[in-house]
Amino acid sequence: MQVLHMNKGNGDTSYAKNSTVQSKIISVGKPIMKEAVLEMLCNNVIESMGIADLGCSSGPNSLSVISEIMDTVEAANRLLGRRLVSEFRVFLNDLYSNDFNNIFMSLPAFYDRLKEEKGLEFESCFILGAPGSFYGRLFPTNSLHVVHSSSSLHWLSQVPAGLESNALKRLNKGKLYISKSSPQSVVDAYLLQFRNDFSLFIKSRSRELVAGGRMVLSFMGRSSTDPTTENSCYQWELLAQAIMSLAR
Ligand code: SAH
Repeated sequence: MQVLHMNKGNGDTSYAKNSTVQSKIISVGKPIMKEAVLEMLCNNVIESMGIADLGCSSGPNSLSVISEIMDTVEAANRLLGRRLVSEFRVFLNDLYSNDFNNIFMSLPAFYDRLKEEKGLEFESCFILGAPGSFYGRLFPTNSLHVVHSSSSLHWLSQVPAGLESNALKRLNKGKLYISKSSPQSVVDAYLLQFRNDFSLFIKSRSRELVAGGRMVLSFMGRSSTDPTTENSCYQWELLAQAIMSLAR
């Protein structure tokens, strides 16, 4: 939790310059987010709308959904001819060692754009960093209206119990995922870890979201019940090979 972070800065190997796949995933989810926000507004007036992006990382993706949510609210305002939301409280969450400085440095330009394109004044949009793990409480009770998280929830909080590299019996020898050679106990260990993590996530958000709030989550999944098909494992196999060759 304290060491994981995407590559910082704006260099060639930074996350900011290597996140077009994730950007595409965010774009695919935008219509769903739009529908969720409109449903929630449904003619309700919200004085201060709390929005959180969980696992925001750094780079162009960090603020893209936030911008989309604001566009949606603005469009609803125009349609109904009145202000449905007076101010936005935006919380950008990621783990402690995320490159928050990189996001913060992009804020002046973002605020300028809000003013130019949406006529929003600085006083109506407060963007704050919220470092910490989303597997636990991050925000005060009933403080959020919209929660978004993309390409982040497949990160487990830890290596599933029993699979650590120093475990007595090396159950998943040479592998860091569920592969064809993994015994059923490895599948069970991953399942249990995900179940525990995701339950904690849902429980924490259920305290933080207001009644009628909305949450849009997108993360890795698979269409087959077999976790070892090539479709599910291809990228992990490449990663495992690279790490094994480094270790050798
Ligand atoms: N949402 C961004 C970033 C995805 S990368 C995008 O779509 O481009 C996944 C991010 O999740 C990483 O920045 C990683 O640090 C973060 N992350 C992983 N586990 C987390 C946790 N438990 N709590 C908060 N953030 C986490």
